[in-house]
Amino acid sequence: METIIPALPVAALAVADSSAVFPVRRVYCVGRNYAEHAKEMGFTGREDPFFFCKPADALLQAADGEVAKLPYPPKTSNLHYEIELVVALDKGGRDLTVEQAAECVWGYAIGLDMTRRDLQGDAKKQGRPWEVGKAFDHSAPIGPLHPREKVGTLDSGAITLSVNDEIRQSSDLSQMIWNIAESIAYLSGLFELKAGDIIFTGTPEGVGPVVVGDTMIGAIKGLGELHVTVTE
Ligand code: MN
Repeated sequence: METIIPALPVAALAVADSSAVFPVRRVYCVGRNYAEHAKEMGFTGREDPFFFCKPADALLQAADGEVAKLPYPPKTSNLHYEIELVVALDKGGRDLTVEQAAECVWGYAIGLDMTRRDLQGDAKKQGRPWEVGKAFDHSAPIGPLHPREKVGTLDSGAITLSVNDEIRQSSDLSQMIWNIAESIAYLSGLFELKAGDIIFTGTPEGVGPVVVGDTMIGAIKGLGELHVTVTE
């Protein structure tokens, strides 16, 4: 088939200890999924889960043992980190039960939902969409995927983020308001989920800014570490 411009590459995530890659269809993100983070953002209580998306080409990969370079994005002076567990689906569907949703998880990665907090705040105030705050280029640093068959089902375990070796976020996956299967089930009522979809499952409390030169290290029990340095 003739293409008017060269065919575009499909985003694909590295798989730990493997030469295989995981093609990515869509990137969904869960908002305010840890109670203490909801509080620090000015909300309380167990609201229904809500979602936003990032483009698949916003993924910024760091191989195991490598430091990813995140260029400081334009039009912000308040770039925030949010450490998150990412799940990758190898099947999907509509209106999944929680049990069915749990079976869709192929693997896990450490991700950062980088946020231009000033632009997101403006958007919230004005009732505008969140894309400029959330979906900018390189806004989704991510480490390699770890197959669930190797690391087991993750429903608890430490999730931490340090900046320049100082711990800023420290929680446990068990503190999610909506657990992974519940989030997937809910999302499947809004969108038909498909193999290749990945989901950032929300961040715990302690979000804050980084500047050029800072190095972030995200860690989730069983998944190793993700190293990202902010560059000019
Ligand atoms: Mn987030």
